Amino acid sequence: MIHIPQFNIDKNLWIEGNLLWGKKLALEIRKQLAQNVKEKNIEPGLAVILVGEDEASKIYVGSKEKVSREIGYKSIVQRMRSDVREEEILEVVNDWNRDSSIHGILVQLPLPGAINERNILQAISPRKDVDGFHFENIGRLHAKSEGIIPCTPLGIMVMLKEIDEKLTGLNTVVLGRSNIVGKPMAQMLMDHSQATVTICHSKTQNLDYYIQNADIIVSAMGVRNIIKNEWVKNGAIIIDVGMHRAENGVCGDLDYKELKEKARYITPVPGGVGPMTIAMLMYNTYNNALKARQG
Ligand code: NAP
Repeated sequence: MIHIPQFNIDKNLWIEGNLLWGKKLALEIRKQLAQNVKEKNIEPGLAVILVGEDEASKIYVGSKEKVSREIGYKSIVQRMRSDVREEEILEVVNDWNRDSSIHGILVQLPLPGAINERNILQAISPRKDVDGFHFENIGRLHAKSEGIIPCTPLGIMVMLKEIDEKLTGLNTVVLGRSNIVGKPMAQMLMDHSQATVTICHSKTQNLDYYIQNADIIVSAMGVRNIIKNEWVKNGAIIIDVGMHRAENGVCGDLDYKELKEKARYITPVPGGVGPMTIAMLMYNTYNNALKARQG
């Protein structure tokens, strides 16, 4: 079965009105993980490969490293030149696959064009694949068999579980069909939440029709100003995965300040889904460490 963890965090600590502050929920989850690590006397190990000088990637890897250390994990970052050869990356991955002190291996994407991303991701041991991108884990998710679930959709499922709304049968529209967000999200909403799921993408016609009927909207398009506020139904639950660097800071695919007037719940950007992704990376690493100890 797919297992979505439940952390039972007091809603008052992270929900303000109808705003779902993932950053506050993520903080509480990280506290729980830090506590568990101490109590169980384990040291989960997370190892990350960062190739090249992409500024956004450096920031993401820096946050992952900082959070890992804060909650008592072993953290390794291997920084590599942008002209590194594929074999050199594979060598590091293979070393880490054999290293019993490492429970999570992550390759920060995107990789420079000359490197075959697929070869690298598929070289990571499925048991250490904390991003859940290995074909074995993708297959397990779709077959409803326990495996490692990609962090962003897992974080959204955790948020939905914590708000404790019954989603059975609800019309749910997932905007986007990427392997990282859209597809695993849709699969979990269908299999775990029993929602009725429609996936829309850039070739979808009459997007307004789908949005107008949606009780839940998960937007993972990476494009702004597509969804008109007036299409959105009163009382819809809105999850915005999109992240854009705009003139006045980071924003999402949707306008949460406008939509919060009609939503039942909505995730702000920044501070909504993003921090949950890192919290789930920590959870996946912790879980792998526990399993490794159990043998
Ligand atoms: P992606 O691989 O580029 O996929 C985007 C998806 O949106 C595609 O399936 C695309 O359709 C669809 N799309 C594009 N324009 C559309 C339109 N006008 N109408 C309907 N669908 C449209 O992106 P991704 O990796 O899934 O990421 C999506 C967004 O989430 C980005 O902004 C990314 O930065 C953000 N993100 C955030 C986090 C986080 O932790 N907060 C994590 C991952 C991603 P086609 O398939 O037809 O091209």
